[in-house]
Amino acid sequence: MEFEEMFKTDQDCIDYLTKVRWPHGFECPICGSIRSWKKSKGRFECIDCHTETTITNGTIFHKSTKPLLIWFHAIWWIVAQKNGVSAKGLQKILGLGSYKTSWTWLHKFRRLMVLSGRSKLQGVIEVDEVFLGGKKSGKRGRGAEGKSIIAVAVEVTGRKTGRVRLAKIPDASSNSLNKFIESNIEKASTIITDEWPSYNELESMGYVHERQKATAMDEDQEVLPNVHRIAALLKRWMLGTHQSYLNKNKLEYYLDEYAFRYNRRTSTSRGLLFLRLIEQAVSVSPVSYKEIVIQNHG
Ligand SMILES: [Zn+2]
Repeated sequence: MEFEEMFKTDQDCIDYLTKVRWPHGFECPICGSIRSWKKSKGRFECIDCHTETTITNGTIFHKSTKPLLIWFHAIWWIVAQKNGVSAKGLQKILGLGSYKTSWTWLHKFRRLMVLSGRSKLQGVIEVDEVFLGGKKSGKRGRGAEGKSIIAVAVEVTGRKTGRVRLAKIPDASSNSLNKFIESNIEKASTIITDEWPSYNELESMGYVHERQKATAMDEDQEVLPNVHRIAALLKRWMLGTHQSYLNKNKLEYYLDEYAFRYNRRTSTSRGLLFLRLIEQAVSVSPVSYKEIVIQNHG
């Protein structure tokens, strides 16, 4: 209802994009002039250097043959889905002719989700690795055959969990874990882990490190409860929404999508999530189907 009132035509979408992209008005990408002639279909001509700019230039909507209204509708629908979406679902809702289009769009949107809100976790954080697709076994150092290792970090405030970060890592070595920790957690934060030796360097990296001991009888039962709860939710979500998380090439995007949704689970305003994604949409370079597929094999 809210969406249909705000966006009736492509021009409504253009006006919205213009406000998000140029909050203080037009700005020529070539000469920086702020004087322009407004033309049709989101085009602007710079009065000083006569360069023509389209509002969608350099955004994920660049050169799309689909109307903006459909793009907007897709984003609106995606932010409303609590449990995430599949390419098939998106195709059906929008009446898109091709599954390929729907699939490409979905991956463009996942990119936006990744980029939105990249500030690092801070405070007290539980970190652990979990295997996706099976139980953690004793073969931790070598990893488990056919399974993906996911590093999980979650902020803990009292008995509540804050934001999460998830990433696929090649193994549970200190090299892999340190990289994950450095790119996701602010220095001087307190990191809680179990006794896995790969975490031995955290102090020297500038973190406060606390280790939780597993009791001999019930290993992994009481240790790091927040990380394990997130891992359980993640597995359930993956099974429910992306039935085949066997597509390992795309696993990282699914993890990012999950983190995006989890980190905004208390955000009640659908409009705000929508705005965040549109803001990202106008600030990133366009990615084509070809590029996504190339990365898929890379
Ligand atoms: Zn200009």
